[in-house]
Amino acid sequence: MKKEIAVIGLGRFGGSIVMELSEMDVDVLVIDTDEARVNEYQDYYSEGIIGDSTDEAMLKSIGIDNYDNVIVAIGDNIQASILSTLILKDLGVKKVTTKAQNSYHGRVLEKIGADIVVHPERDMGRRIAHRLVSSSVVEYLEVSTSHSIIEYSANAKLENKRISDLNIREKFGISIIAINRDNDIIVSPDPQISILGGDILILIGSDQQLNHFEKVMERLK
Ligand code: ATP
Repeated sequence: MKKEIAVIGLGRFGGSIVMELSEMDVDVLVIDTDEARVNEYQDYYSEGIIGDSTDEAMLKSIGIDNYDNVIVAIGDNIQASILSTLILKDLGVKKVTTKAQNSYHGRVLEKIGADIVVHPERDMGRRIAHRLVSSSVVEYLEVSTSHSIIEYSANAKLENKRISDLNIREKFGISIIAINRDNDIIVSPDPQISILGGDILILIGSDQQLNHFEKVMERLK
């Protein structure tokens, strides 16, 4: 059976989720109060509803509880986002993912039972900040409030050095969990492997340790 996912709110965030899902083997239902938005994305979903997600009777009538995954991508209208999340959980939707506008909104969403709270603007801001500060950071992913994973492009100072010789774990307290070498992923690389030009190191550590590593590496360049 195909996976079924509902997306509420077709702003830039919700819209891009719908377009991405349409490339996968997923049945997508969209709901938006704005008819123009529903029409705009008509090529990307299997069912579109012009309606208000704070209308519990409407959600019930379309059988929203049959969807295991519902994404609430309403941004500006925080009240509608909270109420929709609450109703969806009350109706028994297993996994509700809601976009938060700010940290207070996020905290309320967690309290009322949202399964996943996403902060796309905040996360993207952080990613861009890391890329700006260190030209070698190609990707940045937060895994908790204190730890992250970064993709770090190996610079000349790291080239042809064995992992064991770099002492990254001892010096910085961070671990190389994988190496992306020409799109081949070497998982848990052997410490005897030498780093080559073009390698992208995938590193995990606390934010403090990663920041320290990025700063030291920038100075070495
Ligand atoms: P984004 O930040 O993702 O670009 P946006 O700023 O363009 O979003 P928002 O006001 O955040 O737009 O709303 C996203 C979408 O959610 C809009 O298309 C809006 O019509 C829709 N929307 C808002 N409230 C509701 C609601 N109660 N039910 C269904 N859709 C809603």
